[in-house]
Amino acid sequence: MRKRSLRVRFSSRMNSGTACRIRTARTSAVCSACLQFTKTKRCRRLAVERSGHQCRLVLSEVSTCPRRKSCCHCEGHLRARGPANAFHKHGIDENEVVIDAQMADHDAAMALVLDSLINSDDAPIKSLDEIDAIGHRIVQGGKYFDKSVLIDDDVIEKIDELAELAPLHNKAALMGIRACQKHMPNIPMVAVFDTSFFQTLPPKAYMYPLPYEYYEKYAIRKYGAHGTSHRYISERAAVVLDEPLEDLKLITCHLGNGCSMSAIDHGVAVDTSMGLTPLDGLMMGTRCGAIDPAIVPFLMEHENLTTSEVNDVMNKKSGLLGISGVSNDLRSVRDASEGGNERAQLAYDMYSNSVKKYIGAYIAVMGGVDAIVLTAGVGENCEKMRRMIFAGLQPLGIILDEEKNRQRGFEREISADNSAVKIVIIPTNEEYMIALDTFRIVEESEIDRDI
Ligand code: AMP
Repeated sequence: MRKRSLRVRFSSRMNSGTACRIRTARTSAVCSACLQFTKTKRCRRLAVERSGHQCRLVLSEVSTCPRRKSCCHCEGHLRARGPANAFHKHGIDENEVVIDAQMADHDAAMALVLDSLINSDDAPIKSLDEIDAIGHRIVQGGKYFDKSVLIDDDVIEKIDELAELAPLHNKAALMGIRACQKHMPNIPMVAVFDTSFFQTLPPKAYMYPLPYEYYEKYAIRKYGAHGTSHRYISERAAVVLDEPLEDLKLITCHLGNGCSMSAIDHGVAVDTSMGLTPLDGLMMGTRCGAIDPAIVPFLMEHENLTTSEVNDVMNKKSGLLGISGVSNDLRSVRDASEGGNERAQLAYDMYSNSVKKYIGAYIAVMGGVDAIVLTAGVGENCEKMRRMIFAGLQPLGIILDEEKNRQRGFEREISADNSAVKIVIIPTNEEYMIALDTFRIVEESEIDRDI
């Protein structure tokens, strides 16, 4: 069976001056990992991701080959215009279509994206009927979802109920779901949760040492985030290392504007740095990560801040931006530090130190580590940050190869030949995981229906 699906990511600030860029790529019918045409099964799927500032949409065909990579069919980005949200991240290729348009709301944005899928020059599909399924990235699945599910009214209600734990993300995702329901009412939709990968955490890792009644009353516990990324890079790392995932102790590091790390013991997530919300753990672009909780009431009292204002400080004004005063973008912080800016240097040092501490903690949690896996903007691209993170870890058997660290490329090992612990870079591909889950779940539901 051949399936097509659609995945879209939306942002909550996409209400004015929004631009849209659609990039199409030729689809390969051959699995790019194993090059075996006959072992691939394809699904054209649209993936929808809505997060803080953007809507991301990927139309892909899915290969179910275990050594697979995705075959991206078309990728679209909708971003609120502004200095911090420009399109500069995405390389221009000859198939790219850029649309500048005012979009009143998410519904209008979705209509424009769907129209460009079928009507732009070099449109990847001729009709929306060619899409077989839609996958939505949902940040918070709480206690309800330990795996991806077909979306129905009950699922929508639970995503809404959980919005309290991820207000920016879950509400935005719901807008994406509703827009898809409106424009493609007959296409099945799947919710893929960032938190479900961490439902394997043992209670000693997910409980907070607060009065137990708050866990019972409000389900306050660690849920983690970026789970789809950690799941993908752990699976791909096993392929790159040519070892079964079930035999490996991995520390996975998603280091971008948002940062999180996980301990994955024999394929099972046993700890992760993000908590009840994606604010916990590592220092990030604008988020503070873990701080002494007593700072919160102190600031509220001395700066006369409301709960929402103090939340804003910790989520949007802290991290690299808060310390450096320069930017949340590590490249700008790096340039400023190299130009002698001491606060920028401090921000750089703190970021690397924060990652280093979690490496130590997770080695202790798992009683060792076979490989450390890096992904996202900083993990994949910043050789200087990687050098700082791994500096001094030789006593733990972790040795970076300076030459390999400088090389640019795709999935690769950058540890020295004599390093007991491998260091691996895996560019994340959450879209692919969403596509794959969507494909499997829709296929299963069709089989069930046929029985
Ligand atoms: P992400 O959230 O994964 O898009 O990652 C964004 C972060 O990656 C920003 O802090 C960027 O500065 C950083 N980043 C992206 N490319 C590079 C690069 N070539 N060198 C250093 N940092 C980079």
